[in-house]
Amino acid sequence: MTVIDSAVEANAVRAKTYDKSLGQPPAPKLVIVTCMDPRLTGILQMLGLGTGDADVIRNAGSVINEDSIRSLLVSTRVLGTKEIMIINHTDCGMQTFTDRDLEQKLENITGESPVAPARFYSFRDLAANTREQIRRVKSHPWIPKDIPVRGFVYDVSTGSLREVTATAATVAA
Ligand code: ZN
Repeated sequence: MTVIDSAVEANAVRAKTYDKSLGQPPAPKLVIVTCMDPRLTGILQMLGLGTGDADVIRNAGSVINEDSIRSLLVSTRVLGTKEIMIINHTDCGMQTFTDRDLEQKLENITGESPVAPARFYSFRDLAANTREQIRRVKSHPWIPKDIPVRGFVYDVSTGSLREVTATAATVAA
């Protein structure tokens, strides 16, 4: 039995006692971009937020690319969120390779050299990466100018957040 098979079986049992109030339309005021790492799955709880309090956009490395911008625009412009929070984390898998190394590896395994993805967005420096993400969001012309865009690093060993400010000198991550 695969993990998916087990999950589907468990769902059939749990759906019988589902809290139907969870199906009500939410009105989140915050949108979070974070990593797909399983250790970030409980991030709302670690922020003292409930399920309906935030839209959460996740991908490998909290990347700000065309697709996460798309979701940020829907969240802020359609669904009405008023603050944007980017949460990177320590021990991120995206720090363990370079784009070129991974491309080379996949080309070697498959014998193919496809045009996409154009980038994997691997990185070395957590704080510098976070500052670049903030800049990418803020510089997009369709992101509302009056919405705060703040970046953080979540320490997976302590559960603490550290804010990454705009200037490199004040950052330790
Ligand atoms: Zn990660």
